[in-house]
Amino acid sequence: MSQSDDPESRWIDDTLDRLSHSDFRARFVLNTHDRSYADGKGRDVISRHARELLRSRVGDAHPVKNGRQTPWRGHPVFTAQHATATCCRGCIAKWHGIPQGRELTDQEISRLADLVMAWIDIQMQASSEQPDARSAQSGRKRSGRSPTSPDLNPTLF
Ligand SMILES: [Zn+2]
Repeated sequence: MSQSDDPESRWIDDTLDRLSHSDFRARFVLNTHDRSYADGKGRDVISRHARELLRSRVGDAHPVKNGRQTPWRGHPVFTAQHATATCCRGCIAKWHGIPQGRELTDQEISRLADLVMAWIDIQMQASSEQPDARSAQSGRKRSGRSPTSPDLNPTLF
């Protein structure tokens, strides 16, 4: 009975581990724009955005445009939602066992938001430990492509 971790942090660790085995989920990374946005706003604000976005986009019993309500990019929380399978009620049901067709409770929103933030924390940490030399330094001017070009998903391939 000497667990130092509370059940929620264990759930987050287990869930992130399960997600890391999905090629699709593991492909998502925060791009340069997402990272500087998250840096500029600070963690408290991003965490509030996570709760607000989850509540407004996946919180209802029958969310509008379910399955297509979460953009692929444009906010670090959107990217994190795809990476953590909190993007729509189908993914939430499949990955997190929360049934579709009913409103999410505040507790569920909070738990899913904590998962989103844990993923963002890992991404932010990884990027500060291993700055991406390619995009951060050389090459910025060479290719002529804007680093904020929406088609660019630079990190994996
Ligand atoms: Zn989904």
